Amino acid sequence: MQLIQYTLETQKELLAEYSHQPLKGQVALVTGANSGIGEGCVRHLAAAGAAVVVNYVADPEAAQVIVDQINQSGGQATMAFADVSNESQVKTMFDQIRNDHGTLDILVANAGLQRDAFIGDMTLAQWDLVMNVNLKGQFLCAKEAVLEYRRRGIRSTSRALGKIVCMSSVHQLIPWAKHTNYAASKGGLMLFMQSLAQEVSPEKIRVNAIAPGAIATPINHQAWETPEAEASLLKLIPYDRVGIPDDIGRAAVWLSSDASDYVVGSTIFIDGGMCTFESFSTGG
Ligand code: NAD
Repeated sequence: MQLIQYTLETQKELLAEYSHQPLKGQVALVTGANSGIGEGCVRHLAAAGAAVVVNYVADPEAAQVIVDQINQSGGQATMAFADVSNESQVKTMFDQIRNDHGTLDILVANAGLQRDAFIGDMTLAQWDLVMNVNLKGQFLCAKEAVLEYRRRGIRSTSRALGKIVCMSSVHQLIPWAKHTNYAASKGGLMLFMQSLAQEVSPEKIRVNAIAPGAIATPINHQAWETPEAEASLLKLIPYDRVGIPDDIGRAAVWLSSDASDYVVGSTIFIDGGMCTFESFSTGG
């Protein structure tokens, strides 16, 4: 299979899915939005009516193409540089969002990476990088979002004061040998998300997570780009297809909209049934 290539035409087609514009009048930030799942989320949020901020840390050209296509399709998009693991850069990004859009209503904390190694070969730098981006980055962005939601106060565009969607993984649940840093970061994210939801939901801030299974993006290209690799991957997926960023983008819109107003502290698994542990279907 190949990576999904979004275009101006596909962006216009997405508008038909969201004719009721559930996020109209709201502002959404997606971190790591110039690639893969983040791009899918930001394109769906924009089609659903949100003014979107495309965060990037590398490849500004890719971010610019996404911003241009959203704006040309009649949406509203800007881009903002920040390394999500760098506190001063995250604060500067939020200042820029206030300057460009007035406030923020939705954070999709998506940025993440892998640095895989056997435990004996894993360097401290690999461990720290994964923890810094996948876990510290979630803390820094969620903290700034909560502070902005409190500063701004409730408004008529949503029943909630603000929404936070954390991009977790099936590996918050499924152990993953040779990926101990990544699995630990996502396991940690699960309890970060739940604890934060408990803490701020009385203020009407809704915090939830999405746990994707195997979604074809640059992060995992070795797992699906050859027919042999894809066949091997499909053995783990009862629904018998690899996911695409649109599968996640649709859930990000739902979790950000009033349609999910009573959903708090939940993880939505979007994995084609991976977490049913298909290998047990023939034994165990
Ligand atoms: P990807 O590599 O296409 O995208 C990751 C994005 O994060 C990129 O835009 C990258 O530049 C950005 N990023 C990395 N470090 C950053 C930093 N310090 N600051 C800001 N941005 C940074 O991969 P993806 O598959 O789209 O991954 C997105 C998220 O989804 C990750 O959190 C990943 O763990 C999670 N996830 C992916 C899958 C999958 O199958 N693809 C499955 C489960 C979870």
